Order: sequence, then structure tokens, then C-alpha cells
Amino acid sequence: MSLPEEQIVPWHTVSSIRAGMGNVPIIRPKTAADLTEALQHYVHLGTRLIPLGNGTNLIGSDTDYPDLVGVKTTGLDKISLLDNDLFLLESGVFLPAFICTVARTGHGGMAALSGIPTTIGGALAMNAGANGSSISDFTVEINGIDLVSGAMWQWHTGEGGWGYRRSPVPPTVCITSAVLKLSPCTAAIERKAIETELERRRRVTPKGRSCGSVFRNPDSAPAGKLLEESGCKGMECGVFSVSQQHANWIVNLSGLPGKAEDCLALATRMKKMVNDKFGIQLQLEWRVC
Ligand SMILES: Cc1cc2nc3c(=O)[nH]c(=O)nc-3n(C[C@H](O)[C@H](O)[C@H](O)COP(=O)(O)OP(=O)(O)OC[C@H]3O[C@@H](n4cnc5c(N)ncnc54)[C@H](O)[C@@H]3O)c2cc1C
Repeated sequence: MSLPEEQIVPWHTVSSIRAGMGNVPIIRPKTAADLTEALQHYVHLGTRLIPLGNGTNLIGSDTDYPDLVGVKTTGLDKISLLDNDLFLLESGVFLPAFICTVARTGHGGMAALSGIPTTIGGALAMNAGANGSSISDFTVEINGIDLVSGAMWQWHTGEGGWGYRRSPVPPTVCITSAVLKLSPCTAAIERKAIETELERRRRVTPKGRSCGSVFRNPDSAPAGKLLEESGCKGMECGVFSVSQQHANWIVNLSGLPGKAEDCLALATRMKKMVNDKFGIQLQLEWRVC
């Protein structure tokens, strides 16, 4: 076993909206054993670590972070069937691929989440959800490593801590694996439900690279409605603009790398416009590096 090699990459390469002009060292462990060994090594050195999934909710930085190491988990993609409908998944498993694969073998119930472009680790850290369902509904166990102490961390059903985009996983923990419980299903019916959801997504997802919704929905009204009525659609900053299709999405239509500062300046203007008009303080959904 050897430590995965560090690579210095621009932040925008690990953010799906391509925000962040600074550089960061990252490692890409390929096995659970490599991941554990690497995390223990860096914890021992006192290095700051940040888990990186698919980058679909992550805004990079314009600053170089030589003393922080990004842990890209997407190579950790093993799936094991434990018992009937219980699956053990490594943290880098791509959720849509998992849902499609297991549906073929008669395990389902997750079609509502099949269009979220997330890793399992990212989904559990954010409690990703759609159509009234979220990853927490299927989670039985989470395993991770504390990035400060190096100790093992676990969560089990019944321990709670979930809410709307709220997770029991502390920000200092790197999720290594999780157990999800699915339900028995008829493969053809489940496939149809997945296709219907993916087709719905194709219709409603704004064009261009993005990091999904910018703000959480407040209790009073959907953030998109508040932002649209505040006149945010079409506002621009650098390569980023507020989508004409959905006012709660910032998109990068050119796909060129852009400054995180521009992306966040646009989000700040959107937030101010809603506060000025409605007196509501929107909360950012994205994670900012
Ligand atoms: C087109 C599009 C559609 C989207 N639709 C939805 C939707 O319907 N519903 C929804 O909820 N979200 C949606 N999102 C947002 C995003 O996909 C989710 O928040 C997703 O869960 C982020 O996962 P990720 O793997 O990309 O994580 P990243 O963006 O890489 O990371 C997000 C956060 O999770 C942490 N993290 C990642 N992996 C781990 C790990 N192994 N251990 C601990 N922490 C970790 C990171 O440190 C970071 O803080 C959408 C985004 C896009 C671009």
C-alpha cells in the first residue's frame, strides 16, 4: 500500500460550475484502504483536509491553498449487496448509476433521486433530495473518519440529525461508506419511474454548467419565486449569470473557468435584492471553499 500521489489542480476543475481560479493539492484514493491510510497520514501531520465528491455543490477559491489537501472520492465506487435490500456503498459511488443498476436486479424506491448528479458522500453530507424524498429516507448506517482526530465515526438509524438539506455528518468527517436500504421492486416499473424522472429533469434543468440551486427554500415561499419577483433573472458577473429558466440557478453558459469571487458576488446581489423587496434573508445552499 502506498499513499496516493498529490496533484496540484485549479479549484475550478473540482467545481461543476467551474468557479475558482486558485490552486489546491488533491489526492484521488482508489481503494478504501488507500483512503483510510491517506487520511490517517494527513491527520497525523495536522494537514487540513476537505472531502470532494462530484463538485456539484462546491464553489472553489481564487486563492492558492498549499496547506490544504482535497480528498477526491470518486474512485471509491464499490457496491456490495449485504442482505436482501441492504447495500454497502463506498462514498464515491455515483448515485444515479447506483439507482439504475440495482433497479435491474429488483431493488428500488429511489427513482425520485435518480437525477441528482451526486456521489453518496456528497449526498449524505448535504442530505440531497428531490420530489419530497431525500437520501436520509434510505440511510441505515454511515461510516467515516474524523479529519481532526483520525478516529472512526459512525451514524446509525435512529440517531437523527437530519432535516431539509441538514445532515448529522459533522463538517470535520470524511464519509468512507454507507449502508442504504432499498425496497423490492419490479424492474420494468422501476425503470419506467427512473426514465420519467430523468425526462422531467431534462425539461426543467436550466441550461449551462451549475452547482444546482443557489439558495435553500425559506419556509414562506420557494427561493426561485422570490428571486424572480425581485428581478434577478439575467443578472451577470464575469462568466456567471442568473438563469433565464430558473432564478435560483446561477449558470456558467460558456463553460469557461471563472472567479469564485464573481460567482459569490452575484449570489450576494441576489440575496440583497430579495432582502430589500421581501425582508427575507436567503441562506446559501452551496458549500464555499
Ligand atoms: C444539475 C444539478 C442538479 C442538482 N439537483 C439537486 C437536487 O435535485 N437536489 C439536491 O439536493 N441537490 C441537487 N444538486 C446539488 C448537488 O448535486 C448536491 O448537493 C450533491 O449532494 C452534492 O454532491 P457532490 O458529490 O457533488 O458533492 P460536492 O459538491 O463535491 O461536495 C458538497 C459538500 O459535501 C462534502 N462532501 C463530499 N463528499 C464527502 C464525503 N465523502 N464525506 C464528507 N463530506 C463530503 C464536501 O466537502 C462539500 O462540503 C444539483 C446540482 C446540479 C449541478
